[in-house]
Amino acid sequence: MRVNDHLATMPAGYLFAEIAKRVRDHEAAHPGSPLIRMGIGDVTLPLAGAVAKALAEAAMDMTTPEGFHGYGPEGGYRFLKELILRHDYAARGVHLEEDELFITDGAKTDTAALQELFAPDALIAVTDPVYPVYVDANAMAGRLGAYQDGRWQRLVTLPVTHENGFMPQLPRHRVDALYLCLPNNPTGTVLTRTQLQAIVDWAREKGTLLIFDAAYKAFIQDPDIPQSIYELEGAREVAIECCSFSKTAGFTGVRCAWTVVPRQLMGRMAKGGDASLNAMWKRRLGSKFNGVSYPVQRAAAAVYSPEGQGQIRQALAYYQQNAALLLKALSDTGCEPVGGVHAPYVWMKTPGGMSGWAFFDYLLREAQVVGTPGEGFGQGGAGCFRLTAFSTLEHTREAAARLRAAINKL
Ligand SMILES: *Cc1c(COP(=O)(O)O)cnc(C)c1O
Repeated sequence: MRVNDHLATMPAGYLFAEIAKRVRDHEAAHPGSPLIRMGIGDVTLPLAGAVAKALAEAAMDMTTPEGFHGYGPEGGYRFLKELILRHDYAARGVHLEEDELFITDGAKTDTAALQELFAPDALIAVTDPVYPVYVDANAMAGRLGAYQDGRWQRLVTLPVTHENGFMPQLPRHRVDALYLCLPNNPTGTVLTRTQLQAIVDWAREKGTLLIFDAAYKAFIQDPDIPQSIYELEGAREVAIECCSFSKTAGFTGVRCAWTVVPRQLMGRMAKGGDASLNAMWKRRLGSKFNGVSYPVQRAAAAVYSPEGQGQIRQALAYYQQNAALLLKALSDTGCEPVGGVHAPYVWMKTPGGMSGWAFFDYLLREAQVVGTPGEGFGQGGAGCFRLTAFSTLEHTREAAARLRAAINKL
């Protein structure tokens, strides 16, 4: 059997493995010195009670003849779609149809799978640093060419840096698709309505598809910052949007998300003629996906109940408080921290131009705090560092003080 060479020769996804190894080595050498972990982007607060109750009740429904649900509609149950359309879209002036919305088991799953819509030689752009899933999925499909000296030959990378205010400079030439993540992982930054409109206008002019990952939209605190790309004029003609209950409602271990593919969205076929991306995505799901389980969709629906809303808002406020503490502690260290307001991540420059990995080692040794080196998110992350707000308040407070002291000592 011949294998997929693109998959067989993928560079190792060594980031979190390398972090784990360095942490293990440190712990072996310094037993009993407790570490504060602010590396991995996973929620830590327990599941909201209203959500767990709905999950359990739906499981019990399944034991009765009337309540049993087998294969569901692959795009999701209507009871959940209606709630999403109303709360996430109509409430913000965006009117979508039920068949433009697809319930799935993860925004990671979908942002990785959407590349199946693209031509094999489509030209892909990402912002850099980047959530690695977008790149890996296209690389495995063979679209990015060879990986040499830390770069993919056929990938267009748009740096987002302190210098450009985290707004990518849009290429003059056409790319087929641009992935955007806002609020951003890893930088925690957002774009204003005007900046996003400029990206949508550029995409319309060039015929570029935008894949808009809004996994962190629930963290947005400023009503003027768009939560959905469809709040921008003309976006329905150029954008697919992926959202998730993972960070909004602590669903990383429950699994429920959604993707919007508007009916107006068209691509071009090799021989000419338009193809509806909505119809293509529906066709693909029908063959490759069985939908999200009934109890999980009931659990997701409970997120929109008054109790659910109260409980998830509390959890979000807790993480936001942590992020604010980190941001404040780092504010006058010269590290230029960004993010941390509309996102659970704080992104900073390393002191004295250290590499992200050198700073990682220094913090481990001096402060017993674990973060993520910016290099792990692409070349554009070099010399930067990510800290997450997904820790307890006590640990965050302690870590903030230790970080400040460790940096000021340099
Ligand atoms: C956590 C995260 C997601 C959510 O993925 P799920 O598969 O829904 O858990 C999506 N995009 C980004 C950038 C993330 O950090």
